[in-house]
Amino acid sequence: MNEPGVIRKLSEDVVNRIAAGEIVQRPANALKELIENSLDAHSTNIIITVKAGGLKYLQIQDNGTGIRNEDLEIVCERFTTSKLRQYDDLKQISTYGFRGEALASISHIAHLTILTKTGIAKCAYKASYKDGKLLGPIKACAGNNGTQITVEDLFYNVIARKKALRSPSEEYSHIMEVVGAYAIHNSSIAFTLKKFGENTDIKTPTNSSVIENVRIIHGNQIARELMEVEIKDSTLKLLVQGHITNVNYSHKKGTMLLFINHRLVDSQAIRKAVDSIYSTYLPRNTHAFVYLSIELDPRNVDVNVHPTKHEVQFLYEEQIIEKIKSCIESKLLSCNSTRIMYTQA
Ligand code: ADP
Ligand code: MG
Repeated sequence: MNEPGVIRKLSEDVVNRIAAGEIVQRPANALKELIENSLDAHSTNIIITVKAGGLKYLQIQDNGTGIRNEDLEIVCERFTTSKLRQYDDLKQISTYGFRGEALASISHIAHLTILTKTGIAKCAYKASYKDGKLLGPIKACAGNNGTQITVEDLFYNVIARKKALRSPSEEYSHIMEVVGAYAIHNSSIAFTLKKFGENTDIKTPTNSSVIENVRIIHGNQIARELMEVEIKDSTLKLLVQGHITNVNYSHKKGTMLLFINHRLVDSQAIRKAVDSIYSTYLPRNTHAFVYLSIELDPRNVDVNVHPTKHEVQFLYEEQIIEKIKSCIESKLLSCNSTRIMYTQA
């Protein structure tokens, strides 16, 4: 007969590493968290540098508030945050971050270094972290206002994950998607993405516009066919703004950029609904470019679903999707009829 297993408590480090591996599944997930931190810190210029698809090296430099010297000791510990104080704050959270897990997670599965300077500090400070803890002393050094976070050798201690992510070029394309989406959604903020030692792949200026950034990132073919959409509904406490391509544009793959309360998310339900409307207007098996920013009463969105915050749940989903469908439908109908009128004339 088999003996029963002996139950033991896992050590804290093992627990944290497993949790971190769930939050950060690929370099693009880590980058999303870091971009959101830079946005939370009111940055207007964000520069991202990558080596080997972010697996070797991922650096983000911003010009935001910086981190106070006295906070550097605990900033990478789990559940340390400057954003959330009480559970009730979650009802109206306006920052991206809230649970103080991102930096902690990354420090459990990579070598993490922070170089930061606040507006009132006389110099910058540099600190390295491992497993949530400060590694060695904090060093004073020269630096600009803002924060530079460097993540090296991501997944160095997560063997299975390292094996699963074999292609740096595929990881880089996910990074491009994330940076492109945030640059379009935050068109007043300058974004730069480049591979280490090479030319820039994405570069948007400050105070740009959504359409201009779509042009920079996705090309003129899409940018020139964009239509603006807007839905306001006071009973649903809903505001939708976005840009979608008209019936002149179609593509095998298509693009869907979806933000709910300014977080980049995915929603199969919205994706399917949008596709079903377009399918009657576009050639078979082709898709549109759709960028939608949905703002809901924070009380109707549950951001606390999953640590990656990728999957967001919200109330009145069906009604909201109906509104979006009929708005897109009427937009496509109107451009379709102008096209017919035009050819008849
Ligand atoms: P959260 O964003 O949920 O608070 P994080 O682990 O992402 O947790 O970050 C922890 C804290 O570190 C933040 O609350 C913030 O105070 C600080 N921080 C992180 N990144 C930056 C940055 N780029 N600029 C200024 N402060 C930052
Ligand atoms: Mg954060």
